Amino acid sequence: MSLTTGIVTCKLHLLIKNISDTFKKMSYAAMRAGRSPEEVKLIAVTKTVKIEIIKEAIDGGLRVLGENRVQEARAKIEELSRLSTDNYELTGISWHLVGHLQKNKAKYAVQLFDLIHTIDSVELAEEIDRQAEKRGKIQRVLAQVKLSKEEAKHGVLPKDLMHLLEKIKALGNLKLEGLMTMPPFFEDTEEARPYFKRLLEVRNELEKMGFILPELSMGMSNDFEVAIEEGATMVRIGTALFGERSKG
Ligand SMILES: *Cc1c(COP(=O)(O)O)cnc(C)c1O
Repeated sequence: MSLTTGIVTCKLHLLIKNISDTFKKMSYAAMRAGRSPEEVKLIAVTKTVKIEIIKEAIDGGLRVLGENRVQEARAKIEELSRLSTDNYELTGISWHLVGHLQKNKAKYAVQLFDLIHTIDSVELAEEIDRQAEKRGKIQRVLAQVKLSKEEAKHGVLPKDLMHLLEKIKALGNLKLEGLMTMPPFFEDTEEARPYFKRLLEVRNELEKMGFILPELSMGMSNDFEVAIEEGATMVRIGTALFGERSKG
């Protein structure tokens, strides 16, 4: 066995172990909170991950893949479907957009993604609705809520959320399924807990006003267990499955 084959084989063993460890941790976190493990879906975030590894991840049981860039996702989805004509089965795989979406890429986002987690403005919602109508598709979406004061984070402020949700509800080609948030990174994951609690509260307040928002997309590699304890129904996990991403 050559050195490179050895490294690839080793990486794959690690991937399979990471997948099983992650599902286990998700289940335990759900059970600690008195929830059923089936209530929580794993979105495997494959940004920067190579096609060979994504294929292995699919073989390893992952079915929902998340990307944060439209172009990168497009290239990967095309390559995977090319491979699938030979020997690769891609049915049952769904792709989610978890990163910020620019209006001018809405057309491709609608082509590629089953669920867009990151609607944060009325203008973006309207553009996605337009593109979905052209395609004859009902686009599933989540609204991204900004609960931290960090300048860099995207998302709609809680005070503007109701207005956005009312607009989304009025658009005929969008299906609003819930809320997404992304707290700042904390070494101590307990510091992320209030953000998850807050999103759950916001959701519960909105449901009292008649919105139906079953999905809560919250929790990443470092804090997904806390997020599940606080009610996450979708966790977006990259590093814990695929290892550290190389920067740049
Ligand atoms: C990269 C990314 C993730 C996954 O982050 P990890 O810390 O690697 O698990 C989740 N959500 C979003 C929006 C991301 O961009």
